[in-house]
Amino acid sequence: MNRDLLDFYANAPLLELGLEADRVRAAKHPHQTVTYIVDRNINYTNVCVADCGFCAFYRRPKHTEGYTLSFEQIGQKIEETKALGGVQILIQGGHNPYIPFEWYLDLLRYIKRHHPIHIHGFSPSEVDFFSQVFRMDATDVIRELKAAGLDSIPGGGGEILVQRVRDIAAPKKAGADRWLEIMELAHQAGMKTSVTMMYGLGETLAERIEHLQRVRDVQARTGGFTAFITWPLQPENTPEFSHMEKTGAVDYLRTVAISRIVLDNVPNLQSSWVTMGMKVGQLALRFGCNDFGSLMIEENVVSAANTTHRTTTEELERLIRDAGFTPARRRQDYSIIPLDHPVAA
Ligand code: SF4
Repeated sequence: MNRDLLDFYANAPLLELGLEADRVRAAKHPHQTVTYIVDRNINYTNVCVADCGFCAFYRRPKHTEGYTLSFEQIGQKIEETKALGGVQILIQGGHNPYIPFEWYLDLLRYIKRHHPIHIHGFSPSEVDFFSQVFRMDATDVIRELKAAGLDSIPGGGGEILVQRVRDIAAPKKAGADRWLEIMELAHQAGMKTSVTMMYGLGETLAERIEHLQRVRDVQARTGGFTAFITWPLQPENTPEFSHMEKTGAVDYLRTVAISRIVLDNVPNLQSSWVTMGMKVGQLALRFGCNDFGSLMIEENVVSAANTTHRTTTEELERLIRDAGFTPARRRQDYSIIPLDHPVAA
């Protein structure tokens, strides 16, 4: 553990942390551009056997509210996304024991054939689940998903990548080492991924720093992480964490700032206005973030915990401008979409 980093995170005045993070951000993104993406989060199933104590979204098998979307329903959501100028789908779901591996491959092929769009999907926890239930090597799972049409992998399910915390919050899900191993395998297979940290699970500040340093180490080997996103636990409606107090804006800004400082080898940091609200989302742009995340057309997991902030592209761009930056719409790989592209409502 780097004592200086921990001391800086725990004790430095908020604005000093922000200033240092902003310096790292400005060195990496000197043109004062803040990007955002228009996409849609499609949760293909809410049936899950992982029982994460912080999750308000999932339903156990046989629960009357369990669902799995049909290919046609997913196709329709993609068409709606495209009509609004969306350039990718984020497709994630529960660990559903009733879905065969062929279903996932067929789904990816179906999307690429009938509704072509960038597919950002299947977090390392899902890849690990597939590897276990289909008795396949994770390398083969990734290779087959990629061959069927998967373009990149989201950093969902990372929470805190320290085993002590995972044993409490998500004991049935991919462990810390395995989660990072799958990311590394994906990078080796030529796929880019994002990476996340969800804090507020009762971890120490030292454990948050450990999470960041582990991500930094993988990035130093592979260079495969395009972006880092952090947000706090949304405790409402969760099975085991509803008694926890929601952490506040100051903790969020300090955490964003220290993330920017530690992860100086990860190019982009996203602000999480969906969980923190617009004003804190704007402030985060002065605490290390260079991306305003996603204008998400649908988000089921955070909204299941009663935390949903919605907006339009116009509003999003105004917020970015008011914070002193130039807004630009981007693709998954952070390339900029020219202004004459149709604008989403
Ligand atoms: S967070 Fe994901 S893996 Fe955990 S219970 Fe919810 S849907 Fe399942």
